[in-house]
Amino acid sequence: MRFDIVTVLPELLESPLNYSIMQRAKDKGLLEVFLHHLRDYAPGKHRQVDDYQFGGGAGMVMKPEPIAACIDKLCAERAYDEVIYTSPDGVLLDQSLCNRLSMKNNILILCGHYKGVDERIRQKYITLEISIGDYVLSGGELAAAVLVDSVGRLIPGVLNDETSALFDSFQDNLLAPPVYTRPAEWEGMPVPDVLRSGHEAMIEAWRHEQSMERTQERRPDLWQRYLKSE
Ligand code: SAH
Repeated sequence: MRFDIVTVLPELLESPLNYSIMQRAKDKGLLEVFLHHLRDYAPGKHRQVDDYQFGGGAGMVMKPEPIAACIDKLCAERAYDEVIYTSPDGVLLDQSLCNRLSMKNNILILCGHYKGVDERIRQKYITLEISIGDYVLSGGELAAAVLVDSVGRLIPGVLNDETSALFDSFQDNLLAPPVYTRPAEWEGMPVPDVLRSGHEAMIEAWRHEQSMERTQERRPDLWQRYLKSE
């Protein structure tokens, strides 16, 4: 799977995707991430990518021409399954959207900055607008990193059995159960007996029970979805 990310701050994206599972996915040839510096597509000495907004008001807006030049060039090279804009007014990213995106081959992500991008860019190029939560970031790069990480780990072959995504929170509309490692007793707190019993069916039942309890307590909204999906 290939991600092309269009940004004014490629530096922000270099490190987050170069470690752990993301780096392994790249090493295995399952994931490719290419960063495209928007300033390379801006003309003039100053390579200006933003301008004042029509109608007045604080904050700059990203100019359409450099973005269009960059996206046009990328789209001439390959067909994209989605051209995504990261934006607080997009659809909320959740695990089912991650699952869906992990089945694509080529995804282009445009990162906004300042007040965002000129609306006409969104109209002309963007096929999917994604928000990573109801809060405002200063730029789309961190959102893009979240997107590549959460989608990239779902590409078949990226995770091994030990890190399997099947048992993660949200995968079945339930939160994950609590987990423990050694020592069996720490600061007077023992690991639940059942986890040390070696009895697989009982362990599975306990985990499911804990998942349901947690979801009911912490995420009533998710719990309702779980009940409907059962
Ligand atoms: N004025 C805009 C916010 C601009 S924030 C508004 O109120 O909607 C600058 C950029 O950061 C955005 O263009 C977007 O690319 C990114 N961004 C901010 N919050 C985000 C979020 N919750 N999810 C995804 N991207 C976000």
